[in-house]
Amino acid sequence: MLSTFWQQPRQKHHPQSQPRESVPGTQAPSDSVTQHAQALTWSADSFCPRRPRPRMPSGAALSIDYAVDADGGADPSPFYVAEIEGKGIGLRANRSIAKGEVLMVRTPTLVAQAELVNELEPRVRDMMYAVAMARLPKGRRNAFLAQMGRDVRDKIDVNCFQLFIHGAGEKGASHVTCYPDIARFNHDCRPNVHYRITNTTITTIAVRDIQRGEELTVSYIDVFLPSRERKRTIRSWGFECACALCQGPRNETVASDKRLRRIKQLQDDLNDFKEVKVSAETGAEYTALHEEEGLYGHLGSVYTRAALNSALFGDEKGSREYARRAAEELSLEKGPECADAKAMRGLAEDPRAHWTWGKRRKAEK
Ligand SMILES: [Zn+2]
Repeated sequence: MLSTFWQQPRQKHHPQSQPRESVPGTQAPSDSVTQHAQALTWSADSFCPRRPRPRMPSGAALSIDYAVDADGGADPSPFYVAEIEGKGIGLRANRSIAKGEVLMVRTPTLVAQAELVNELEPRVRDMMYAVAMARLPKGRRNAFLAQMGRDVRDKIDVNCFQLFIHGAGEKGASHVTCYPDIARFNHDCRPNVHYRITNTTITTIAVRDIQRGEELTVSYIDVFLPSRERKRTIRSWGFECACALCQGPRNETVASDKRLRRIKQLQDDLNDFKEVKVSAETGAEYTALHEEEGLYGHLGSVYTRAALNSALFGDEKGSREYARRAAEELSLEKGPECADAKAMRGLAEDPRAHWTWGKRRKAEK
């Protein structure tokens, strides 16, 4: 079950479906999830032309599968569907998986404009859903219907992502997109799989080495929230977090929360370009805390901050090393061509030419 609750009031966006902001100072615009998806959508006019058309918001559209699914060339598949204790159905690795391995690439099985889901009369809306279901290839329809939820509407509520898509109707129109195979990933507050969305295609990638038999998980929530808030958020979606951290001994949760508070503090200090609140060593503490905490899905921005801090203090070796690692992580998280990864490759090559070079050291004096 991949609970995303794209609708208000629960949660407007899936937290990870939105790109994390670029770290201040990289001078690079971040990738945008809002993508062109004209090819994905059927206009109201072309939708089901032989039937009397129900009242639809202009430009509203549903789509069916239009592209071949791929799994990064992995054959046989590195995972299988399994019953997971305390969680229901999930995915397990059937061999060891290396960090960076692409596990699943999926295009949406169903795309619908949010206003279709929210504003149509239920009778008309359900009719549209029935038509969409009928048009799906059998395999995809079965995959869609196998998702959690009582009926199509409920399955969309529980499992879909919200994406803002250009080119269909008004700019950045809100759409719900369903990926039944991706919905197989259960939640974990310290997930071993990260996903990125490009042109509405979801790519899932291992963020650390994974052992055979381990469950494959993504996070449905902001993993930087303290334990109490994480549990409350997950509970509001109708289940208890069954991850090792939330179910583990209390002293570990307390230690984890303490690390998260420290991470937040260091991050604020590192982002402060007006005052010098950090030292040349802050980057080392900041990055170590993430590794200790098992937060592997966000190391791109973490190493970026450390690299910029090293450059700001005029530490050439540190800037090169952190920038190199930042570029590696960003390539996994956002794609190798993302602007932030390019910026970090530039910093790794020539730290002295970067606009940040030596600025904090000078400000200290
Ligand atoms: Zn948890």
